[in-house]
Amino acid sequence: MSSQHVVIVGGVAGGMSAAARLRRLDETLSITVLERGPYVSFANCGLPYYLSGEIAEKKDLLLQTPESLRAVFNLDVRTGHEAIRIDEVAKQVRVRADGTEYDLAYDHLILSPGAKAAYPPIAGLDSPRVRTLRTVADAVGLRDLVEAEASRAVVLGAGFIGLEAAEALRHCGLEVAVVELAPHVLPPLEREMAHLVHLELARLGIKVHAGVAAESLVDQADVTMVHLSDGTSLAADLVVLSVGVVPDTALAEAAGVATHHRAIVVDEHGRTNLPNVYAAGDATVSTDPVTGARRPVAMAAPANRAGRLIADAIAGRSARPIPKPQGTAIVRVGELAAAMTGANRAALVQAGRAFTTVHVHPLHHAGYFPGAQPMHLVVHFDPATGELLGAQGVGAQGVDKRIDVIATAMRGGLRVNDLMDLDLSYSPPYGSARDPVTMVGLVADNAMTGQVVLWQPEELDWALSEAVLVLDVRSPAEFASGHLPGALNVPHTDLRGRLDQVRQAAAGRPLAVMCAAGLRSYIAYRILAQSGFEAKSLSGGLATLRAYLGKDAENNLVTVGGTQ
Ligand code: FAD
Repeated sequence: MSSQHVVIVGGVAGGMSAAARLRRLDETLSITVLERGPYVSFANCGLPYYLSGEIAEKKDLLLQTPESLRAVFNLDVRTGHEAIRIDEVAKQVRVRADGTEYDLAYDHLILSPGAKAAYPPIAGLDSPRVRTLRTVADAVGLRDLVEAEASRAVVLGAGFIGLEAAEALRHCGLEVAVVELAPHVLPPLEREMAHLVHLELARLGIKVHAGVAAESLVDQADVTMVHLSDGTSLAADLVVLSVGVVPDTALAEAAGVATHHRAIVVDEHGRTNLPNVYAAGDATVSTDPVTGARRPVAMAAPANRAGRLIADAIAGRSARPIPKPQGTAIVRVGELAAAMTGANRAALVQAGRAFTTVHVHPLHHAGYFPGAQPMHLVVHFDPATGELLGAQGVGAQGVDKRIDVIATAMRGGLRVNDLMDLDLSYSPPYGSARDPVTMVGLVADNAMTGQVVLWQPEELDWALSEAVLVLDVRSPAEFASGHLPGALNVPHTDLRGRLDQVRQAAAGRPLAVMCAAGLRSYIAYRILAQSGFEAKSLSGGLATLRAYLGKDAENNLVTVGGTQ
C-alpha cells in the first residue's frame, strides 16, 4: 500500500492523461480523480460531430467509464464529485458530492479544470434558447432542440467551435447565421486565408455577419431576436454562444494559486506556486515559442502532453520540460480545412518581430492525376535567419499534412529554406515531386537570398502610387478579366523582346510585377533584375491579392469593359 496519494481535479484531457500515466509509472500510488460532471474521458472535440449526426450515438463520445478506468488503471474515479476548496497547508481538498461534503488528503494535487464558456455582457444571454457547446449534456440538448422544431440558428462567435457548430447545424438543415465581432471568421487566420473560408460558408448557405457585435437578445413567444450593432436583427429558434473561453480557475485562485489573466501560472514541469500543486490544460498559461506572449492555448494535444509530463515529474522520472505550444490547429468548414501553426501577422507585428511572408497556391497532388485540389499556404519567417515563425493553410485536401510538416519543422528548429530539402513521400495520388511544403522552401530561399524581392498585398497603396508602375505579366485575356488600374500588360513570354517598352513606361520608376499566383512574376522578375530594373514580385499573385482584399477586390480592379 502506497503512502503517496495523488488527487486530480478534472477527469478529461489533462487530468486523465496524468492519471493513466501515473499508474503506468507507479503501481503503488493511490490515485483519485474528481470530476464534477457525469462523465470522464469524454470526447469534447467530437461534440460538434454528434450535433451534426455524423457521430450517431452519445455512447461513442464516452471513451472510458469509472469502471473501465478502475479495471485498467486501478483509478478511483469519482464523477459527480466537485472540488470546492483547496487547503494547501493541511494538503487536502474539500469535495462536494450528493449534497454532502468531505475532505480528501493529497501528497500531490493536479488541477486540470479546463475552461468555461465566456459570457460577454450582452443583454438576454440568459434566454433558454441560448446554449453553449462544452459538454455532452450541451450537445445532447442542442441535438434535441434540432430534432424537435428548431429551424433557425444564430451562432455568436466564429472561432473554431463556433464554426464547427454552425457547420453542424447547417448540416442538419437549419438556416444558420454566424455573428463575429472581428472583421472575419476564425480571427487568428490571416485575412487572405479567412476570405476563402467566407466563400465556403457562403457556398454552404451560412450567412456571416462579421465586424459587428451582438448587442442584445430579446425573447418573444416563439423566437429570440438577436439585435446586431449594424441594425440587423436575426430571428433564432436557438442561439449557440461561442465567443471564447475563460480558464476555470476560481477554485485555484481562492487557494492562492498564482494566475495571469485568470490562467494558472506554471513552470516548465507544470508546478504552480503552491507546493505539490500542479496544473495542466486549458486552465494554464503558456508561453508562445515565437513571440514570447503569455496566453492559454485551449487545445487537446497540449493538455494531454502536459498531463503526462506532470505525471513524470511527480513519479520522479527525470521529466522533460513541457513544450511551449505553437497553437497548431485545424478546423473543417464544409469541403475546406483551415489549419495554422505558430504566429500570425498581427502577433508578429505586436511582438515587434521582423518577418517576410510567402504565399503559394499549389495543387494538393500532381495536377495530371484526377482530383487535384488547389491549396493556399502562407508562411512567415525571419528574413535574416530563416526562422519559421508561422504558417497557415486552406484547401480541400492535404492541408493537414502540410501544416503538420511545417509545425514539425518549427518544433525541430528547421529554417524556412530547409523546407526545400525535405524528403517527402510522393506519388501522383498523394503529392507532387515538388511538394507544396518544398515550394514554400524554394520561394522563401529565393526571397532570403535576393533571387526575388517580394511585395505583399498590404503594400497595394505603394503599388498603385504614381511613383510605381504595375507590370502585369499574365496573358492579355487574363489581364482583360481584371487588373490593377494603370497596369502595363506584358506577358512574361514576351518580356525579353519588350524590355524597351517597359523601360519607357517605367520612366525610372520601380516595377510592381504581378501575375495570377506568383510564378510568372518571379520568372519576369529574374529577367528584369538581370536587365537593370528595380522590381518586386507580388507574393502569391492576384490570387492572394483578391483574397486579401475580399469584398473590396472589385473596387480595386478594372476590366477592359469597365470596373469588374
Ligand atoms: P477539460 O478536458 O475541459 O476537462 C476539465 C474537466 O474538469 C471538466 O470535465 C470539468 O467538469 C472538470 N472540473 C472543473 N472544475 C472542477 C472541479 N472543481 N471539480 C471537479 N471537476 C472539475 N481541441 C483540439 O485540440 N482540437 C479540437 O478539435 C477541439 N475541439 C473541441 C470542440 C469542443 C466542442 C470543445 C468544448 C473543445 C474542443 N477542443 C479541441 C478543446 C479541448 O477539448 C480542450 O483543450 C481540452 O479538453 C482541455 O483539457 P483540460 O484537461 O484542460 O480540460
